[in-house]
Amino acid sequence: MTVNPKPGVSGKPPYDDSNIFARILRGEIPCRKVYEDQWCLAFHDINPQAPHHVLVIPKSPYISFADFSAGAPDAEIAGFIRAVGHVANMLGFEESGYRLLANMGPDSHQEVPHFHVHLFAGRPLGPMLV
Ligand code: IMP
Repeated sequence: MTVNPKPGVSGKPPYDDSNIFARILRGEIPCRKVYEDQWCLAFHDINPQAPHHVLVIPKSPYISFADFSAGAPDAEIAGFIRAVGHVANMLGFEESGYRLLANMGPDSHQEVPHFHVHLFAGRPLGPMLV
């Protein structure tokens, strides 16, 4: 698929379509796919921090949550959020529980500049650390 670079809503920095998730979306590098629909792709994190660690990413090029929430059409926002819930449900995490997390920008140590949600599950996760 084509990922079109466009600036974030903040105007800085522009989306860098050489980032690893853009390359995964273009099929240039493989991923262990969990789920895909018109809005998003979900795949296993390459360096899992829990027994189950899945990343859910929108197919369109957003850097941050603000880019996504301000820039995406309502149908895409709804589709993405529903997909995150669907993945958690599909993998059987509803009963035992799971954690969603999204890093944005340098203070959060966002490593990949393509908006993504981490989904952790498979063990007691302990209190959230910030
Ligand atoms: P961030 O720090 O929230 O940006 O998280 C980026 C995540 O992407 C990290 O948990 C990495 O382990 C993960 N990651 C980086 N490269 C790959 C890859 O090629 N496949 C799957 N996950 C990756």
